Amino acid sequence: MDEIKEILQGVRLLDPLTDCDTVVDVAVGETDIVWIKEASGEPSGLWLLPGLVDMHVHLRTPGYESAETLETGLRAAIAGGVTSTGMMPNTSPPLDTLAAVLEVMKAGESLGLASIEPVPCVTLGRSGDKCVDLEKFAQNGITSFTDDGSPVERDEALLDAFHRISSFNGVVIEHPEVSAMAAGGAVNLGRASVETGVAGIPESAEYLDVERCIAVLRESGGEARLHLTHLSSPESIRLVHKASQEGLRVTCDVTPHHISLNEESVIALGSIAKMNPPLRSEESRKKIVEMIADGKVCAIASDHAPHTIEKKNLPLQKAAFGIIGLETLLPVTVNILSMEAGMAPLDIVRMLTTSPASVLNTKPPEIKVGKPLNMVLFNPKLEWTYTRTFSSSSNTPFIGRKLTGKVMRVWFRRELFREGEFV
Ligand SMILES: [Zn+2]
Repeated sequence: MDEIKEILQGVRLLDPLTDCDTVVDVAVGETDIVWIKEASGEPSGLWLLPGLVDMHVHLRTPGYESAETLETGLRAAIAGGVTSTGMMPNTSPPLDTLAAVLEVMKAGESLGLASIEPVPCVTLGRSGDKCVDLEKFAQNGITSFTDDGSPVERDEALLDAFHRISSFNGVVIEHPEVSAMAAGGAVNLGRASVETGVAGIPESAEYLDVERCIAVLRESGGEARLHLTHLSSPESIRLVHKASQEGLRVTCDVTPHHISLNEESVIALGSIAKMNPPLRSEESRKKIVEMIADGKVCAIASDHAPHTIEKKNLPLQKAAFGIIGLETLLPVTVNILSMEAGMAPLDIVRMLTTSPASVLNTKPPEIKVGKPLNMVLFNPKLEWTYTRTFSSSSNTPFIGRKLTGKVMRVWFRRELFREGEFV
């Protein structure tokens, strides 16, 4: 048993794995928890939660290290309380072979920061044509696949993937988009496209692909799992919910920015608020928040998408899509879902930990005596200004803004982060 290094007093332990929401004292050792007891004194107001699982992160290695290196990406993750990152494969070259994925994982592991959950390509080179060697990945414990950045547009490829992943409880994570409908667009079709004079992307470009993927899943026999990522249209979520009620294994996530911002941001701020799918109308945003409160969305994921200033600091039409999000994931999500949706903290934490872990088919983070440290101390009331990022890129409309709720400390295997600095 580890020696006690310190005792965290009166922390609100929020652990979805055990449905625990209790104020406790926790004795922390160098590498594991020594004991957890009922609090002896007053509550501190701080939350103790498991390390977050962010199932949608662009770490940009290999190929785009000018926007993010593994080290800066995994540092930004830890600073945001994220100890497990779902690594997207739209790199250069795309991560479509086991050797390439293992190489990045090994490099990531050697940094001793957040862990990497690999999500390799569904199709070779993300071409949408022929599936990767799905079984070979599965033999090595890798069971989640995506062509993120683009959809798997050819039904035959998607059907083939569904057939093959059924045997190992795999999942296809679809970036839902009808490419022909989105092509050339940069902002929401509606007020944003009218105000900016830039071509718009309709919500139907998203939900028609959601509908197609669900149809292909049904066609496949329905044993496989499908996850629709970064949904921005209430209609998409309605379709996912309907399919899951039908018994199909379909889940979805949304991003913190789509529940906290609307198209007014891109009208006011331009390229820094450009993303794909685009920020939608206030009406859609509000609807999505309601649907989350109704339990129709299983996870919140950052879609952390770093880009260099050169690629982002361009007119709306030309600028790259995407914003960084690891460091703002927790405060933004907690604020919107507790204040606006009235959700209980434990249910919010579930959407950032155990639920995404179960989509990725990985071990959920645990706060347990004798287990390696994997936890975050969060002050839900603290107001602060987000001025500094550990990412190599700073493309986010949240930079310079006042936020409520701050990650105070992060332990993953050992204490890594304390009050704004790495330990
Ligand atoms: Zn995407």
